[in-house]
Amino acid sequence: MGWRSQRLDDGLRLEVSYDSIQMEKRRIKVALRYSIQLANDSEATSWEMSVDNHEPGTIREVHFPFLSGLVKLDNLIMPNHSGQLLRNPGEKMSDEIPNVHVEYPARASMQWFEYFSSRAGLYLAAYDQDLNYKQLFFGRAAAGMKDASMWIVQYPFAVTSTTWRSPELVVGIHAGDWHWGGDEYRRWLRSWVPPSQVSKYVREMTDSDTDVFIKDVDESLVHNYSDAARMALERPLHCGTMFVGWHYNGHDTYYPEYVPIPDLGGKDALTSAIDAIHTGGSHVSAYTNVRLNAIATKTYKDSGSAWAVLNRTPGTGVPSLSGGELREDWNPKWTPARRGEGSHAVMCPSAKGWQDHMVAEVSRIVGEYHFDGVFLDQAGSFYSELCWNKNHGHSNPANAWGPGYVAMLRRIREATRALNPDSYLWIEGMNDVYGQFIDYHLDKNQVWEPMRTHPEAETFAEMWRYSLPDQIIVDDPKSYSYLPSKDPAYGDSYFFVMGIRGYGMLNELAGSSPEQKQIRRAVTDKIRRLWTAGSDYFFYGEFRDTTGLRVSPPELFAKVYRGANGGIAVAAWNAASRPTQAVVAINLRRLEFSETGDLSVTSLDTRQPLPYRIDRGVVQVKLRLERHDIDVVEIRTAK
Ligand SMILES: [Zn+2]
Repeated sequence: MGWRSQRLDDGLRLEVSYDSIQMEKRRIKVALRYSIQLANDSEATSWEMSVDNHEPGTIREVHFPFLSGLVKLDNLIMPNHSGQLLRNPGEKMSDEIPNVHVEYPARASMQWFEYFSSRAGLYLAAYDQDLNYKQLFFGRAAAGMKDASMWIVQYPFAVTSTTWRSPELVVGIHAGDWHWGGDEYRRWLRSWVPPSQVSKYVREMTDSDTDVFIKDVDESLVHNYSDAARMALERPLHCGTMFVGWHYNGHDTYYPEYVPIPDLGGKDALTSAIDAIHTGGSHVSAYTNVRLNAIATKTYKDSGSAWAVLNRTPGTGVPSLSGGELREDWNPKWTPARRGEGSHAVMCPSAKGWQDHMVAEVSRIVGEYHFDGVFLDQAGSFYSELCWNKNHGHSNPANAWGPGYVAMLRRIREATRALNPDSYLWIEGMNDVYGQFIDYHLDKNQVWEPMRTHPEAETFAEMWRYSLPDQIIVDDPKSYSYLPSKDPAYGDSYFFVMGIRGYGMLNELAGSSPEQKQIRRAVTDKIRRLWTAGSDYFFYGEFRDTTGLRVSPPELFAKVYRGANGGIAVAAWNAASRPTQAVVAINLRRLEFSETGDLSVTSLDTRQPLPYRIDRGVVQVKLRLERHDIDVVEIRTAK
């Protein structure tokens, strides 16, 4: 082993190298070199590693950086979908659950995580522009170790006589809480990922497209095309519709045969239904699935098997294995699935033939059937897979997934936008890099059993909203841990404050009383009205979480936004069942608001001025909120 440190113009660089590595039984001819670079005036340190393999075998895994013996901090956040929080994580590791992890891409939407308290944090990130498969770990590294560690596992698959180089890995040892990590990661991502050209319809939508079923999972008819169009038009114009099970022959059946159903009148009946929705002034998107190919289809028999993920690591998710080909059963009500051997094969997104197939299907959906948008199920959720098939164009199992989806989504975006410049795409789950090719993400099921990392993990959508405020998400209101969001009448107000557009805001919650439904209608109408009145903040501005914000009483649920117009808005929800006289304090300097001239401080609800005082750049606003009510405090320079 050798090491040297080197003083740089703006910092210090430490290099450590090993010519070979001593294993338990023998020394192996693997040369390893890593460097750590510290820059003056920066809390971020940059780590890199290279591995020269002179052994006959393959180096599969690299655990680096590996930060062990960590002091106790209060919280862990991991980017599982829009984010999850584990409080006192060190105390939640046990012999049964020694550590927690998420893999990127798929469950993990970003390549960073944070272990922090209110005044200090530890940030660990991979700045990998190639989206190689990796895992973010926290917990006990080995049996008998009690201290918490944090590490990243990468999969080089470095064969003999090759050199593998890691991407830049960043360790931030910083003052302040997790927001430091959000700022740092956003800076890196924006340095190379362009923003999505989001359609105006999606940019300003209050409600996600919401399901209408044509044929169900057992191939039974729910609504024919013209009935589905009528239902879409009975909805308010701002609430779009998604046709589910519109294709042969119902939801979760013969993927990927995305053709209209012959006994419902085929293409003519489908396109006239869609044209009627357009004449009525509304929007409709088509459900598709980019992961699965039913083995009962002609596509599978002709080519699907050649495109399937060749999997050697059982035990993740719910796959069943058939001859090494990864298969999944999602639909127990479907006759071909009853054989129980996996009714759908999982397609490798790098397989050029599968990409070609999906590009052609989605192009026909937009170009010939006239759908405005397309939903691509499972693109950013569930599990990413290592694929051992050598004929798919990926150079190793770990770069099958991320680069495959980047290529497929890029191609689908180019094809659909060429056919209709206003067309839109949305996907299940989320991914920071895929986001440039789609309009919005369906944040889904972080607390759904197969997706969760720990029984006590809570949702923490602030992680995504703060890090990537320009990437739009929607979700079902019941999906979040924040307890008041589960209220059947008022729960949507959680979305309002968080700026998460409604998916199912339109749907009546099962089991709600008529009174609750009536209240809920009034609540969602008010959310739409305030969001639209504050579009500079909610649709075109930036979610800044609690930056520079202090509220009293502290249980008032409030978040701050910077507007595209330079103003500041605080969205607030009094979730309590009694009125409150709240004080909202906003540090204008923390929000880079220029205090020139007089201020205008108003309620977006009443459009009336609110009483306030200002002291050393901090505005204190008095805001009265009725029980369960919402409002927005808007601060601008007076005209
Ligand atoms: Zn593959």
